[in-house]
Amino acid sequence: MGGIDIFPYEPRENQIKIMEDILSALSNKENFIFNAPAGSGKTACVLSSSLKFALENGRRIIYLTRTNSQQRQAIKELRAISRKIDFKAIAIQGKANMCLLIEQMPSMKEGSNEDISRLCNARKKKSIEHLRGIKHENRCTFFENFIMNREKLIFSGILSAEEMMEYGRKHGICAYEINKLNISDADVVVAPYTYIFDPSLREKFISWYGGRFDDTILIVDEAHNLPDFAREVMSVSLSIGTVKNAMKEYEEYNISDEIIFEVLVLLAELMEGMEEELKFSETDDMLIEGRIEREMKERGFGRDNLKKVAEGMMVYGDVVSDMKESQNMLPRSYLRSTGNFIDMWLDTDAKWVKIAEMGTRGTRIEAYCMEPSVATSVINNFYSSIHMSGTLEPVEEYVMSIGIEGKIARYGSPFPEENRKVVYVKGVTTKYYMGDEMLSRIAEMVVNTVNKAGKNTLIFFPSYSIMERFLSLHPEFNLKVFVERKNEKHVQLIKKIDSFRKHGGVFLSVMGGRLAEGVDFPSDELEMVIIFGIPYPPPSSKMFALQHYYDRKFGNGWKYVVEAKAVRRILQAVGRLIRSENDRGIAIIMDERAKRFTKYIEMEEVSSPAEVVMEFFQKIK
Ligand code: SF4
Repeated sequence: MGGIDIFPYEPRENQIKIMEDILSALSNKENFIFNAPAGSGKTACVLSSSLKFALENGRRIIYLTRTNSQQRQAIKELRAISRKIDFKAIAIQGKANMCLLIEQMPSMKEGSNEDISRLCNARKKKSIEHLRGIKHENRCTFFENFIMNREKLIFSGILSAEEMMEYGRKHGICAYEINKLNISDADVVVAPYTYIFDPSLREKFISWYGGRFDDTILIVDEAHNLPDFAREVMSVSLSIGTVKNAMKEYEEYNISDEIIFEVLVLLAELMEGMEEELKFSETDDMLIEGRIEREMKERGFGRDNLKKVAEGMMVYGDVVSDMKESQNMLPRSYLRSTGNFIDMWLDTDAKWVKIAEMGTRGTRIEAYCMEPSVATSVINNFYSSIHMSGTLEPVEEYVMSIGIEGKIARYGSPFPEENRKVVYVKGVTTKYYMGDEMLSRIAEMVVNTVNKAGKNTLIFFPSYSIMERFLSLHPEFNLKVFVERKNEKHVQLIKKIDSFRKHGGVFLSVMGGRLAEGVDFPSDELEMVIIFGIPYPPPSSKMFALQHYYDRKFGNGWKYVVEAKAVRRILQAVGRLIRSENDRGIAIIMDERAKRFTKYIEMEEVSSPAEVVMEFFQKIK
């Protein structure tokens, strides 16, 4: 029962329970939302039970991941299951990752998804005409080889995106097209979130999928990411750099539609004015609700007029793109991007908040979607859905924010309880602006605790600025110190992580940074985590607007926007410690306000963390 006979490992008790619960939810056509800590074997449990149900009941599965490494994990488990039962699974990735033509043209790599898609469509069109005898340069031979070998490219078994790429490279055939071709008869399709939650990509995906969503089980991996992902996917933004480039494009390509230029100048002026205001804003952003529309109207550009201007920008933008493409350049058009933005901006309603903020490339305006269910309501079209994570608490908030109903379950850690301990320290807090005296007190405690324990430690700060203040005190650790710097290049950070793993030490990082999620430190590679203050999201106009939105919707914006984020960040940080039976570790939260999270995280109050840490490591030597 519950997929156990196709579960690829010797199942533990908690895994049997998870699989039985999933099977029961699927039999009742219910959504199933569950939290289970890292190391529970969630992926194998969910895939075994849902696959068993799907194969026996004529259903299919779409398994969504946020990152490519999660996708690889799903493929690894599917491969293990395939040793017990025969089925077909395929993993797909975006064109930007899979396009072999782009791989050979480094100058095109910086293109957006839209640019790459345009390039691909233009090349494919020319290739088709070429195959029909009309001579063309700048085609895509990978696509031509795909067309000529199409019949031989239907595969069986478990197909990862990386293997498809290897195959494509070896035979000179487009891997992306092979993937598309193999989706329609796959029992399991592993795909990035965006293929289901971005409405324009979903349309394409449906045409390749060739099946019905109400016959499909949707699985959302690392589901705690979904609400923010859904908000982002429905949001639109425009930088002042894009507007200025659109003006240049207008002149460079001799466009003579003066109204378009007038709107661009106006937009640039408005954004420059905002830049000045932002310098005096208490946060890095500010609300600009209705402001652009008002100012435009005063200059004679009402909504309908602006819509027409935006349409014009898109039409000219298409022409610019085509010209660039014919010159073998990236078919990017800033005019089209600006037109697209204005068009979408004018169509937003009260679910979006309009803000201006300082980006790395100057002012940026954004219509930010506060309502995840605008993107996630599609979940209700599926036969049933399964949402899993190790940091889904508060689960009820997750369920309500994405707009579904379903059965909720929580599973405890499968590993010995005594291997993990979480404590928070009484009498210290980073609340409000932390004065130098409090900072020194916490810093002294941190250094003392790390030096006494002598174990590999990760310290998470709420922000880079607090980390810098801590470092300015010249803390004297007995262990080697590693620091994750702001905007640090990925390769550089990886080198530091490797060295930390190899030689040990204390790693200073920030909450929500790259070390907080996705990097595993098995066994004694990591034995202590220190959380420096409560990781509430930094105050911003966007966050206040979101809080206000949830206040009106559910009557508790703080819980949805601020508390939920802090709880998940703490859980993620603590989750770094125990990933397997052999791991042990202690997490110390340097802030007494952690007390309010005891309903989500089991923890104790302590006064002297150094003593507690010594005791912990002595006990479980
Ligand atoms: S057909 Fe394939 S290889 Fe050619 S441009 Fe499109 S995605 Fe790239």
